[in-house]
Amino acid sequence: MIGQYKILKKITEEEIRQQVKKIARDIIKEYQNREPILIGILNGVFIFLSDLVREIPIPLKIDFVRLASYGSKNVSSGEIKLTKDIELPIEGNPVIIVEDIIDTGLTLSYLVRHIKEREPESVKICVLINKLERREKEVMIDYWGFEIKKGFVVGYGLDYNEKFRYLPYILNLEMKD
Ligand code: 5GP
Repeated sequence: MIGQYKILKKITEEEIRQQVKKIARDIIKEYQNREPILIGILNGVFIFLSDLVREIPIPLKIDFVRLASYGSKNVSSGEIKLTKDIELPIEGNPVIIVEDIIDTGLTLSYLVRHIKEREPESVKICVLINKLERREKEVMIDYWGFEIKKGFVVGYGLDYNEKFRYLPYILNLEMKD
């Protein structure tokens, strides 16, 4: 238990490190001499993205977007708003969108559409956690760390109502509501 929540599974720091390294190896292979632009989705991605780029010893650029959809509930409202856009020009460049979690797929399908309007050379998607239970929009994921069937994930940058972001590991919690 953590507070009132039952822990379904813990993903340890070592397990996270191994998966981050695996994703980094795949990205290095594909983007050698191409200087990709990594676009992170705030806030949840801040720890994953900083660990990831430190495992990628090739030139790259970093930018961020912020999207609002969740409010204080643990299910997506379906309505997505872009509250902070990218600032780098991406036309003609290879882009990798980096996200903490894909759940319904609504956030990423919205963002991919938005990014493609800027005519990058290519767009790939990297997520730390691929949640399979509630997918509504099909999204092609190119790199991922973990697959999770059910529950709500916190820690390693991910919050529940702004709690638990600071945990160095990931907890999958059983949510009643
Ligand atoms: P989607 O649009 O794919 O349903 O949701 C993506 C966003 O919802 C993620 O960026 C994340 O902010 C939030 N989200 C979805 N599932 C979880 C979860 O299990 N834990 C946390 N902390 N956020 C989640």
